Amino acid sequence: MTTVGILGGGQLARMMALSGAPLGLRFLLLDNVTDACAGQFAPMLVGDYRDEAILAEFAAKVDVATFDFENVPAESARWLNARIPVFPNPDALAVSQDRLAEKTLFRELDIDVPDFRDITGFDALRAAIAELGTPCILKTRRLGYDGKGQFRIRSDADIDAAWQALGAQAATVGLILEAFVPFEREISVVAVRGRDGEFRHWALTENWHEQGVLSASLSPATGTAAFEADAVAYARKVAEKLDYVGVFALELFLHQGRLMANEMAPRVHNSGHWTIEGAETSQFQNHLRAVLGLPLGSTRSLGASCMLNWIGAMPDAQPVLQEAGGHWHDYGKRARAGRKVGHATLRADSPQALAESLARVGAALSRQTQVAPVIVRLA
Ligand code: ATP
Ligand code: MG
Ligand code: MG
Repeated sequence: MTTVGILGGGQLARMMALSGAPLGLRFLLLDNVTDACAGQFAPMLVGDYRDEAILAEFAAKVDVATFDFENVPAESARWLNARIPVFPNPDALAVSQDRLAEKTLFRELDIDVPDFRDITGFDALRAAIAELGTPCILKTRRLGYDGKGQFRIRSDADIDAAWQALGAQAATVGLILEAFVPFEREISVVAVRGRDGEFRHWALTENWHEQGVLSASLSPATGTAAFEADAVAYARKVAEKLDYVGVFALELFLHQGRLMANEMAPRVHNSGHWTIEGAETSQFQNHLRAVLGLPLGSTRSLGASCMLNWIGAMPDAQPVLQEAGGHWHDYGKRARAGRKVGHATLRADSPQALAESLARVGAALSRQTQVAPVIVRLA
């Protein structure tokens, strides 16, 4: 009996546990809150990720450890890795936790990125804005997610407000200033690398965000064939450089024929949720296979899929469940503004059938604005 330890007990751990059940796997979660939603499916230790006593208890009970939460302190991952196998490795985790280290690595690998500057103080911010111009985005280097810890600077008039919002964090988690990219499309490559170095990727996914939070994903992305080889080569270079094992996502902007890397997520990713029903093997299943050293499954797409995120509260399930290719995921989380509480995936054998399904669901749930950009791409 193999037990997989997961640091973090949110919806990613929950979907991982559900996906690992047919493999006969056991899971043990470690989270710092008692009501983490994966706890409904797997036993959980509750405590601080930095607490050595709890890490020791966790290490004694699992065969291998992985992450649901990308901001587990890298030192805790290293402490564990000295005792049990941890995938992805703690160095890869550390790089992808820090936007400055991550973008510096991308550049080293000849992967284009939006221009950026390390911001150590207010004068550095002013100087960097003079160089990069406006609009630009000030972000915390570490601990940001779902667009949190970011301030969009539209003109010089916003500099003081930006500093007021984030300045104090220059000394704690660090700050980075990025040029704003008025991209035409946002895409992601979700890929997996096995312990033996085997690399596979799912079809490119196009993503739409609402206020910094993922709203919809379409895969295979349409009209991106010319960029696919480069996007996949970028993902592969990063994975090989970091000796990465497991699933990860590389987020990219497409702008005027240029492909630019935004960030990587060192874990299964929201833009890969469609793979549960829309691919031969899901990201969750392949992540588990990778960390356990099992053969990876095919990543082939089964037709076309669109994932819709439910933020804040769950809508009515009926319109999705009525669709032939409609799949419902309720994470069992309490409703709260801005919180990801579930998603739906619509899958169809043709782009046209997917567009029709999206139109029906969008109308029934009054979510036309959420589905409209996806329908445009499928036309
Ligand atoms: P995630 O939830 O994906 O981890 P995050 O909080 O780490 O999000 P980013 O991915 O950096 O933040 O930014 C969130 C979104 O904001 C991006 O997906 C993109 O839509 C927009 N964005 C971020 N950086 C830029 C940029 N330099 N130019 C234009 N838009 C940007
Ligand atoms: Mg991120
Ligand atoms: Mg992102």
